[in-house]
Amino acid sequence: MKFFAALPLFAILASCSSSETEGNSASGVTQPPKAAVFGGAYTDVEIEVDYQGGAEPYTGAAGTKVSDLWSVTRTNLGRIFPDKNVSVPSDLTQMQKIDVSGELFTSDALLGIAKKHRDKAPTASKATYYVVFVNGYFQDENGKNDAVLGVSLGTTGVLAMFKPVIASSGLPAFPSVERFVEQSTLVHEIGHAIGLVDNGVSMVANHKDATHGAHCTNTKCVMYWENEGVSATREFAKQLLLTGNVVLFKEDCLADVDAARKK
Ligand SMILES: [Zn+2]
Ligand SMILES: [Zn+2]
Repeated sequence: MKFFAALPLFAILASCSSSETEGNSASGVTQPPKAAVFGGAYTDVEIEVDYQGGAEPYTGAAGTKVSDLWSVTRTNLGRIFPDKNVSVPSDLTQMQKIDVSGELFTSDALLGIAKKHRDKAPTASKATYYVVFVNGYFQDENGKNDAVLGVSLGTTGVLAMFKPVIASSGLPAFPSVERFVEQSTLVHEIGHAIGLVDNGVSMVANHKDATHGAHCTNTKCVMYWENEGVSATREFAKQLLLTGNVVLFKEDCLADVDAARKK
């Protein structure tokens, strides 16, 4: 079953496609259609975060520009949904450690974790997304994929983050870069989960990187899929570290979400 959207660390490409079965309940809850969340009926958007032991999300300060790392995700989600109450945790006390074993995770295994541990189901006025940080690797149809930083599972609202891959993205010259890699990966996967690019939310102008699925053609946008040898995500995170500029989506992706809100 190929219905995930993944962000690789290096050149190795994971399959990145998506099914658009709306009202997907594969994770045990009924997720609202992506485009519907932009409507006025939804007043709240919440991110729930769980983590496997050893896969604790980075929290706190990073670099000299950012005092609360999770403000990166909060700011970007707030830019997507400026008219809604956006709820994103900041520290581990607002996240939950869960009992999960193993270090290879298929899409089905990740959905199984969500089914068991997702506590916040969407309601008629609140859209929720479930993020699980695992201490292991994505297992795709070719086996262990140690290049995948994160995945967004189709229309389920379930996202997974692969901590060992994220942690390995550090650079001695940029001591906090892996912390920003984690946040930019999460923003990227949330981008897929809310419907980018042409993944449930319509495009205003064509900026879909058709070769790589639901990604953006703008190399400066968080939804860009780099397919050359150097880690685009790390380069991207380095910019974030140096500038503290936290809106990671560029014009075309922003135009899409702005138009979706006005529908
Ligand atoms: Zn992606
Ligand atoms: Zn974009």
